[in-house]
Amino acid sequence: MTAPKPIYCDYNATSPLRPSAREAMAEAMDKVGNPSSIHGFGRAVRHAVEQARASIVRDLGLDSYRAIFTSGATEALATALTPSTQGPKPDHTTTRLFIAATEHIAALQGHGFAAQAVTMVDVDGDGLLRIEALKSHLQAMPDHERAVVCVHAANNETGVLQPIEAISVLCETYGALFVCDMVQLAGRLPLGEAMPAIVILSGHKVGGPSGIGALIYDPQRAQITTPLIRGGGQERGVRAGTENHIGIVGFAAALREATANRVNEQARVGRLRDDVEASLLAHVPELKIFGQDAPRLSNTSCFALPGYTASLALMQLDLTGIAISSGSACSSGKVKHSHVLAAMNIQPETAECALRLSFGFASTHDDVARLLESLTKGWTASQEQANPSHGKISEKNATFTQSAVGNSA
Ligand code: PLP
Repeated sequence: MTAPKPIYCDYNATSPLRPSAREAMAEAMDKVGNPSSIHGFGRAVRHAVEQARASIVRDLGLDSYRAIFTSGATEALATALTPSTQGPKPDHTTTRLFIAATEHIAALQGHGFAAQAVTMVDVDGDGLLRIEALKSHLQAMPDHERAVVCVHAANNETGVLQPIEAISVLCETYGALFVCDMVQLAGRLPLGEAMPAIVILSGHKVGGPSGIGALIYDPQRAQITTPLIRGGGQERGVRAGTENHIGIVGFAAALREATANRVNEQARVGRLRDDVEASLLAHVPELKIFGQDAPRLSNTSCFALPGYTASLALMQLDLTGIAISSGSACSSGKVKHSHVLAAMNIQPETAECALRLSFGFASTHDDVARLLESLTKGWTASQEQANPSHGKISEKNATFTQSAVGNSA
């Protein structure tokens, strides 16, 4: 008996490599030369690195910004989030970090800020930052002190989109330095009118390799004065170490492909996501979709099938070769409660059942049909086990996958 084709629905954790990234990296692997070397070999690699850098800022619509390559978004956040990062009003001292309660754990560390200098800004029940609360915090900053505001553009667990244009305006008004984690937004949606002083990216979320990311800053409004990694002065002295030129070209090629295909790709994965939610809702009216009333990334669904715990669901789906997540990838290996859902005031017994699906460029209707079939089988069995007297659940759900496939066509 042949094993069923594995199905991957966990793009927010990491994306499969895009074909263009694979091709660009294969070509780069044949190039020898340190990009800092003066000879022709080094210059050829330098040229590839600089082309990739220019391509990344162009794709983001941030041509006047500077991109510094790092080992990933975690390192980029650790580099940016320190009081020594200069913001607008250079004569002011940075004293405080305001950070959304639903930020990725890599940002929540606060890095260079002491714990007492970090203020968590609340979100509402849909996961949207309470912008009035941020405004009050910024208004209360003493004269000659400056704040750093760190808010992600799109949440990795729920896909909820933060009002980054309004946050940009607030930061501009109060002279705060806005650091925006765009890891989940890049390649999926344009930045719009938002103009954060610092933008954080990760290669493996856009279909590039892992181990590469970028800190992108507007030199008019931000300066990184204390590098995290010191050494040979590469990357304008902001991040030492020989550049990972293979990763860099793969990252740029992936972002290029994602940007070029963005509109069609996001519409297509949005239909898959909507089909899943509609089918689940039709058959499990108690279904809870997190962030449903907020603007969301079209590829992401975070939901709970009450009574069907995430740990059981993940295990059962994994046995049928289907990969989804229970929350952020960093914690899904441990299946612990999500700080994102806790900040949204979701009760622990509901959060325990939270599952995250995230689709991407290679996701198909067949994936959705198989996923729904396995998910509903598992949910039905768990309900029957919990309520042996409700023997009719299997019958009720017999039509479930049929209608799901119908919806997806
Ligand atoms: N920020 C967000 C929103 C993420 O989803 C992740 C990864 O899950 C990170 C930061 C960290 O990215 P990296 O794996 O490149 O360190």
